[in-house]
Amino acid sequence: MASYQTFNPFNGEIVRTVELMDSAAIEQRLAAAEAAFPPWSALSLAQRGDYLRRFAAGLRARKDEIQRTMTAEMGKLRREALAEIEKSAAACEYYAEHAADYLKPQPIATEAQRSYVTYQPIGCVMAVMPWNFPIWQVIRFLAPGLMAGNVAVLKHASNVPGCADLLRALAVDAGIPDGVFDVLHIDNDQAADVLRDRRVKAVTLTGSERAGRSIAANAGDQLKKCVMELGGSDAFVVLADADLDLAVAAAVKSRFDNAGQTCIAAKRFILVEAIADAFVQRFVEATKARSYGDPNQEASTLAPMARADLRDELHKQVQESTSKGATVLLGGAPVAGSHAGYAATILDQVGPGMPAYAQELFGPVAAIIRVKDDAEAVRVANDTSFGLGGSVWTADAAHGEQVALQLECGAAFVNSVVKSDARLPFGGTKRSGFGRELADHGIHEFMNIKTVYVA
Ligand code: NAP
Repeated sequence: MASYQTFNPFNGEIVRTVELMDSAAIEQRLAAAEAAFPPWSALSLAQRGDYLRRFAAGLRARKDEIQRTMTAEMGKLRREALAEIEKSAAACEYYAEHAADYLKPQPIATEAQRSYVTYQPIGCVMAVMPWNFPIWQVIRFLAPGLMAGNVAVLKHASNVPGCADLLRALAVDAGIPDGVFDVLHIDNDQAADVLRDRRVKAVTLTGSERAGRSIAANAGDQLKKCVMELGGSDAFVVLADADLDLAVAAAVKSRFDNAGQTCIAAKRFILVEAIADAFVQRFVEATKARSYGDPNQEASTLAPMARADLRDELHKQVQESTSKGATVLLGGAPVAGSHAGYAATILDQVGPGMPAYAQELFGPVAAIIRVKDDAEAVRVANDTSFGLGGSVWTADAAHGEQVALQLECGAAFVNSVVKSDARLPFGGTKRSGFGRELADHGIHEFMNIKTVYVA
């Protein structure tokens, strides 16, 4: 049987040897999922909610063990991991409480005696998930999915198998019946076969554009519904009247938390010329306070990147940007002697044709783009193939809202970093994907939105 190893991104040590499942093991999971669907979907929402509440309690009870696994597998700072676990538990409880409201039949006035829309589950949903928020990304699809009455199989990113197994163990601890949620340790070719299986009704992917193309093509070939949550290069637009203390603190947090590996991190800092110098000077000073180190230590405020190859890829993007005219104000290189560390980096004079302008920089590198005025800021913010999120910083909230409405993205925030929240729909436009997670939109994605008409 094929196997591979995972490595701790801080010290390079082997974390685990993972054996890929063979076809008999995959078959057993898919058969269990098929068998689990009818009884699971027949439970009341209150019963499914009880399972989710127990799952949330398990997340909290085992938070130290889960944190250690996240940190060992993908390098997340301890405090960030604990916050992610709490956010995930709260989202389970949120859906346990609100699903009944989201799934209420919607009456529609027609000439019929009764006509309405009702929401029915579809069966087994496959999830292909990334490593950057190894617990939260899974919960984002799993909590609404289970409340909807669907069952699920997860193919997690290959570098976080321990996180995947812990999620499965929490489901078992919560008493969730066999087959309702399972984990497949499989490679991408096996994932394509699973998606083709008749028992898998739909797929949700969070990951790169490259993975999106492949999985969406496969889903299209099978005429199966898919949701694509892909990359982003969010604009952080600072207008002339912005509160710079607020904006700079937010910029540092948004760009350098999680070692810059967040889809909705601010990546392009678009500064109108009136405040550009002042913002840049404060941004550089504030970023210097980020200190690289062991992610299990409280003193560390910049984590390693998740894998050495991803760090090397990022460095190539930085080098190509500087060779085309970007200037390095801070950092600009791997952390010397580290396994997968990259220095907190700020690039100035970023412009069209550079990777820092046109591509996603999935690591701790900020790109400064200077513009004349608000109109040019909007034009540059939209001059990207991505459309995930964007933020606008200004003392005039009403004007900020007008600018936010012009951003081509799935979520535009004014005077706040872009964030995910179980109450708010989340997803992208353009090449950042399609479909939505979270809130009511998220729970409806993988349901049959069924019209009933009684003449
Ligand atoms: P990735 O390389 O695309 O991997 C994501 C998942 O897709 C992993 O499970 C991966 O499996 C799988 N995968 C990759 N290629 C595949 C293929 N051809 N067929 C089937 N599965 C495939 O992305 P990543 O490096 O883990 O994550 C970073 C990316 O995710 C960034 O672009 C980031 O912006 C994006 N992201 C988006 C959101 C959002 O909500 N929009 C949230 C978080 C992250 P293996 O690990 O086995 O290759």
